[in-house]
Amino acid sequence: DKSNRYDLRSSLTARDRVGVQDFVLLENFTSEAAFIENLRKRFKENLIYTYIGSVLVSVNPYKDLEIYNKNHMQRYRGVNFYEVSPHIYAVGDNSYRSMRTERKDQCILISGESGAGKTEASKKILQYYAVTCPASEQVQTVKDRLLQSNPVLEAFGNAKTLRNDNSSRFGKYMDIQFDFKGAPVGGHIINYLLEKSRVVHQNHGERNFHIFYQLIEGGEEDLLRGLGLERNPQQYQYLVKGNCPKVSSINDRTDWKTVRKALTVIGFDEDEELLNIIASVLHLGNVQYGGEDGVACITSDTQIKYLARLLGVNGTVLTEALTHKKIIAKGEEVCVPLNLEQASSARDALSKAVYGRTFTWLVNKINASLTYTDDSCKHYSVIGLLDIYGFEVFQHNSFEQFCINYCNEKLQQLFIELTLKSEQEEYEAEGITWEPVQYFNNKIICDLVEEKFKGIISILDEECLRPGDASDLTFLEKLEDTVGGHPHFVTHKLADTKTRKVMSREEFRLLHYAGEVNYNVNGFLDKNNDLLFRNLKELSGCYLSFLLRPHRLHHLLNHLPPPSVSAPPQAATQFKASLAKLMEILMSKEPSYVRCMKPNDSKQAGRFDEVLIRHQVKYLGLMENLRVRRAGFAYRRRYELFLQRYKSLCPDTWANWQGKAFDGVATLVKHLGYKPEEYKLGRSKIFIRFPKTLFATEEGLET
Ligand code: ATP
Ligand code: MG
Repeated sequence: DKSNRYDLRSSLTARDRVGVQDFVLLENFTSEAAFIENLRKRFKENLIYTYIGSVLVSVNPYKDLEIYNKNHMQRYRGVNFYEVSPHIYAVGDNSYRSMRTERKDQCILISGESGAGKTEASKKILQYYAVTCPASEQVQTVKDRLLQSNPVLEAFGNAKTLRNDNSSRFGKYMDIQFDFKGAPVGGHIINYLLEKSRVVHQNHGERNFHIFYQLIEGGEEDLLRGLGLERNPQQYQYLVKGNCPKVSSINDRTDWKTVRKALTVIGFDEDEELLNIIASVLHLGNVQYGGEDGVACITSDTQIKYLARLLGVNGTVLTEALTHKKIIAKGEEVCVPLNLEQASSARDALSKAVYGRTFTWLVNKINASLTYTDDSCKHYSVIGLLDIYGFEVFQHNSFEQFCINYCNEKLQQLFIELTLKSEQEEYEAEGITWEPVQYFNNKIICDLVEEKFKGIISILDEECLRPGDASDLTFLEKLEDTVGGHPHFVTHKLADTKTRKVMSREEFRLLHYAGEVNYNVNGFLDKNNDLLFRNLKELSGCYLSFLLRPHRLHHLLNHLPPPSVSAPPQAATQFKASLAKLMEILMSKEPSYVRCMKPNDSKQAGRFDEVLIRHQVKYLGLMENLRVRRAGFAYRRRYELFLQRYKSLCPDTWANWQGKAFDGVATLVKHLGYKPEEYKLGRSKIFIRFPKTLFATEEGLET
């Protein structure tokens, strides 16, 4: 295979060169089969990384490879992409160098479906910086904190799911701040859409967030006694839903030690309160209701006693809050009893709210500990890491998938804007004329979801706020009335006969850039409202103020403010706003992309499931990515580098070329017989249109 001979360097062994290490060099670049075959071939040789230009494609090996040690890190320092085999460190290093030399903020966007290796990739980049960047003693503290923020966030935000034993149940964007010497001096984390419903319910074979099991399995005797907890997860309603207390790949007891240590490094001095809250959620879950005539009452006050003690609240007030709701009738506040179902919902809503706020609070605490206070170092550059849920299509898709896939549409938009734009900008900067490439612009889908007044989110909000008979189904009808004619929107009623067969009457279908997804509207209104009872929301607000001022909780619980007139924004709208903010952040930076894939659904090493891979190639838009990359010039190289590499192929440049690199390259390609349509000479780089031109030149080197 000729392509194997491309990019020969002494540091690349024959094994490194299985297939092509950049898809841009594939002869048959429009063939998905050829694409997948290249991936497969390399994967079999444990070559899990391959480029599409500067985009890194990664396939989860599901085993530890010996490619992440310090020697490897050193190998990638200050080296160009093509000189060493593709690696996540090369991406990290490239961003770092661009930040240093061009003084431009960078971001690395990591995407892929659950279990594809996004979080591992982001940790590897962070480790790379921690090891290779310069550091003073002071900086060491920051490095430690940056690294230790991971176990803490994972304990509280990750859980065992069917797809991944350590699945991130939140999206994460992390800025790493560097000073003018290139040393990491601080950081900042933004979290997105924590899956709070997991606190109260888990599907079969899944678990609640790790921290609950860590505390119960690993917590010291005294600690557990103080919290009123037993060392048995089966005792807790919130931990038994998935019937999966133990996971073979996880050791909750040692993880507990790790988390505790990490909390100390981050500078947590209040973890007692933190654990009180975690224990309280477990006790809340065990609050049982009974009662007659549809009026709920709490059957045993054991949990209430624990809760009262742990949270320092008045038991009677708490009991009241868990069995009644406050409403305003004729201008007066009245307490209305809840029925059984309402009361359990209220309890679960409180648990979710408490956990959600605790998580946000934790992120804020970590951010405070990562904030660099030295004034001498106000001007820093930033590398952002985005580890966020990939496109999701399940048998049953709900509000969560709707939000996640909307997020992916936004990221695709950004990709289109930034890659195509930057490609174009490079040609312009180099003074090269080129044919713009046709691609699908998914803005139309983003608009369908987010447009003011007539987008899906607006219509959902409207239904959520409309008093009277609003329901999930009236929401669906409203959608049909408003966006029914949109080319990317279908419902059972609007569908053709073929589509109708695979849709239920409770679904709408969106034609995403990555494929079609049917969303069941069941639960959309409730989930968008987030909490069922307004007064509980306020209660939880006060409740959580405990995190800051414990002694005030009692006081606040007894003096609930009247329900606020203007409702807080709905969940989807909040998410839309935070995504808009994220896009703004990312737009101001120079992006790099890591596209992660998982090779099989059974978490097995060495198994390459082509059907699964094909889906991901599609959802990640890799073929289009490659097409765009190839539409212009497949290859570009600075004159100096090009000349240095190939000068031996021409008698005029063979010895030390004394003239300008540009003239040297011009002489060289003339001698090599490059045809005018094969290449262009820009201001600082040579652009080569077809890979085969370069292969031929590479061949020359070998003979
Ligand atoms: P989620 O969206 O569910 O959070 P993810 O994309 O973040 O998924 P990871 O948690 O990063 O997935 O990876 C899942 C598992 O795959 C890891 O726990 C690890 O066992 C394995 N894995 C991922 N990347 C690598 C790697 N580079 N080398 C070895 N194992 C890996
Ligand atoms: Mg993850």
